[in-house]
Amino acid sequence: MARHIDPVCKLCRREGMKLYLKGERCLSPKCAFEKRSYAPGAHGKKGVFRRKVSDFGMQLREKQKARRIYGVQERQFRRYFRSALRVKGMTGVMLLLTLERRLDNVVYRMGLAESRAQARQLVRHGHFTLNGRNHNIPSYLVEVGDVVEVRPTSRQNGYFKLLAEQRGHRSVPQWLEFDNARMVGKMVAMPDRQAVDLPLNEQLIVEYYSR
Ligand code: SF4
Repeated sequence: MARHIDPVCKLCRREGMKLYLKGERCLSPKCAFEKRSYAPGAHGKKGVFRRKVSDFGMQLREKQKARRIYGVQERQFRRYFRSALRVKGMTGVMLLLTLERRLDNVVYRMGLAESRAQARQLVRHGHFTLNGRNHNIPSYLVEVGDVVEVRPTSRQNGYFKLLAEQRGHRSVPQWLEFDNARMVGKMVAMPDRQAVDLPLNEQLIVEYYSR
């Protein structure tokens, strides 16, 4: 399974905005974008963001931004786009809603991980059950009624113990439910576009793939 192994802060600098890929660190003064808000590379400081960007450039950047936020490789992203084309509704919105339903994103939205990358790792390491059965596939698309639970053995692990203590009554999006005492969550509705609180222009992504 391919995954991004280069420093992720470079991705924020490339996109010219904070993508919040590292959890807590993104909110601290250690954030690389706070210190160097120009593109990476030898010519980054020369103002790559001030250059006039073509329509294609804007479409490409928007697609890359979405891919990087959700941590999805190009081939899989293209697959999501193709399946969004087949669904009734606006293709761009359907694409974002499909990405929101990925199991790693659901775990992140439930507040069980600081970032989507961490959520993906927790899923891969088998810390969750889905509808009572062990499940370790981050790309699984969660359906309404699916129950995601921290495995009883994992609840004893230091990370989840601390999380349960510190989490308090952290809110989750309206399309999800989470019981902090039992460490069980459920998808109660399909997410809608408003639930995707990300600075993405999905129309540009559709235009990119429709060239
Ligand atoms: Fe981006 Fe977070 Fe790195 Fe800041 S700390 S540059 S927001 S990944």
